[in-house]
Amino acid sequence: MSAFFVTGTDTDAGKTTVTAGLLRVFASMGVPALGVKPVQTGCTDGAEGPEAPDVELWKKAGGRGRVLHSFRVPCSPHLAARMEGATLRVESVARDCRRAAAENGVTLFEGAGGLHVPLNDEESMLDLMRALRLPVLLVVANRLGCLNHAVLSLDALENAGLTAAGMILCRTVPSSRTDAGTSAEAETLILADNAESLAREGKKRGVPLLADIPYMEGFSCSDKAMWDKLTAMLEPAARHLTAFGRNDSRGGELLAFDRAHLWHPYTSAMHPLPVREVTGACGAKIFLRDGTALVDGMSSWWCRVHGYGNAHLVRAVQKQAARLSHVMFGGLTHEPAVELCRRLMRLLPQGLEHVFLADSGSVAVEAAMKMAVQFWQSAGQGEKSRFVALRGAYHGDTLGAMSLCDPVTGMHSLFSGVLPKQIFVERPSCRFDAPFNEAAFAPMESTLRAHAAETAAVVVEPVVQGAGGMWFYHPEYLRRLRALCDELDILLMADEIATGFGRTGRMFACDFAGVTPDIMCVGKALTGGMMTLSAVAATRRVAETISGADEAHGGGLFMHGPTFMGNPLACAAACASLDELVASPWQERVRHIEAALKSGLAPCRNAEGVNDVRVLGAIGVVEMKKGVNVEAWQEYFVSKGVWIRPFGRTVYVMPPFVISEEELFQLTSAVCSAVASAALHGGTPAGENDRREFC
Ligand SMILES: *Cc1c(COP(=O)(O)O)cnc(C)c1O
Repeated sequence: MSAFFVTGTDTDAGKTTVTAGLLRVFASMGVPALGVKPVQTGCTDGAEGPEAPDVELWKKAGGRGRVLHSFRVPCSPHLAARMEGATLRVESVARDCRRAAAENGVTLFEGAGGLHVPLNDEESMLDLMRALRLPVLLVVANRLGCLNHAVLSLDALENAGLTAAGMILCRTVPSSRTDAGTSAEAETLILADNAESLAREGKKRGVPLLADIPYMEGFSCSDKAMWDKLTAMLEPAARHLTAFGRNDSRGGELLAFDRAHLWHPYTSAMHPLPVREVTGACGAKIFLRDGTALVDGMSSWWCRVHGYGNAHLVRAVQKQAARLSHVMFGGLTHEPAVELCRRLMRLLPQGLEHVFLADSGSVAVEAAMKMAVQFWQSAGQGEKSRFVALRGAYHGDTLGAMSLCDPVTGMHSLFSGVLPKQIFVERPSCRFDAPFNEAAFAPMESTLRAHAAETAAVVVEPVVQGAGGMWFYHPEYLRRLRALCDELDILLMADEIATGFGRTGRMFACDFAGVTPDIMCVGKALTGGMMTLSAVAATRRVAETISGADEAHGGGLFMHGPTFMGNPLACAAACASLDELVASPWQERVRHIEAALKSGLAPCRNAEGVNDVRVLGAIGVVEMKKGVNVEAWQEYFVSKGVWIRPFGRTVYVMPPFVISEEELFQLTSAVCSAVASAALHGGTPAGENDRREFC
């Protein structure tokens, strides 16, 4: 089965004639073909319901076709719909299109007008095309000025992440009606040059000009000779379309090369676990090369809070890329960085006023550690240079950050010679969802009192410990910690790289306790997952102290400065992501996800092999009694149409905030059925390769 979207540079570009001709060629080639008009305006009442002029033309050409949404008024879809009291929504029109696609052969979906024709006040034909993700056939009206229209349309398709399968040039008005006073002679030249120029432009972009249809004098729908002539002209185009994407062997070759040469996270180069090729993603869904759609339960490791393909974010990055993608930050600055800092300061806990922009979470943690060390050097207490961290913590993979991770799951033994030795305190035993118990803070208190003289900072992931075990602890612990740090003069460093920007139901997890750390790291969801960026924010006291150091202690300079510091592209993405977040009902969404995760995962609670089930904000965790076989669980989840990657003993989901009710249900039912299946099959879910959802 293959399908294409046929669109024009304009209304009256000749799409319908071209589609009719193509349907006729396919029929003559013995390829089953179907034409579909997702929306048709200007319909009339026929004996068997509304009659669509375009479909009538296809039928005269010997093709098959149907209309999905028909309106009587002959005008733009949004206007026709409004006048008839209807609403067109891309999501539902796209769903109707998918249902209407032929099982075999070729389906041609024909739009109405050009790319930016509105379907409603927010969405356009281009949004429908993005939702369908089909290769596009662009019909170009051959007239004066059409190159401009064609190139702009190709740009718009590229910017929307769509593939143009080819172009067809079509002359729809007779030469006697010359454009804007051009002589017939000049017009002949213009039309011929249009074909040449368009072919040249297409070549640059890998989009072939498939046919050049002249105006057909005396064209009449019942004229068989005319149809035959059109058919002959469109045959190469039809052959191109039937072959398009067919002999695509890239998938297998790509995976083989990947397997031979690419290192994936925490894997063996020689014996890697299988990986799957992603070719696109939209909303909360990830698409694999074979067409499988997977509901993303991971938000690509915390970061894709707005899901994939958010138009606002995509546009922000495209605009910034064209304007200024990167420039060094030493001695130079730019609007995206300043605007980002302005936005961060509005959202961060009160008192964090100085921002250092870094390129990833781990680098932010490194910079924050250096900040803490330099702080005490500058304050004349250089002996305070160690860090206190929690067991079960995860702070990143670079050496400094790794020294703060749980010593066991962080594999400290492997790097024992090179890792700085930090001081560890047991994981806070006070659950988030149980009353605070005084004893829970005692280990931290005694450790800090014993080591205050040598401790630069205590480092914690506030409230939610992420990759180190997905553990949620009571905010009161954080309040106590803040007070004790103040008492003993130790810096409090909060790693909000995973928790920041709404994931827990609060903007930052620190907000649960109402505390301001001295230094805070953010990353991951900062750019909505568009690209890598992190930030370290510090209080005025920290910045002022470091700045006041004498020559022997750094001379007041903070000694860090990565090449891609303050990258404008990443900063622009972050600004757009924060704007999108603030403008969205994110609290309500997260509350809703929390409720759905609680009810959806509840059946796991009593299942065999399950140790604990816990939910906080948009994070749901099923903790098993034993470590899970990642490959087998992953395989099972993919067979259920979801993307969930367990880790250690935890099977967890943290979906994009934009996930739909239905998708959320798919996630939680997949987890429940995996757990049930694992209980039956000795700890590993098995079988049932049945419910793949194709897009
Ligand atoms: C992911 C993570 C990091 C590391 O960030 P990277 O961008 O992967 O380097 C640090 N701390 C926490 C809490 C994280 O979740």
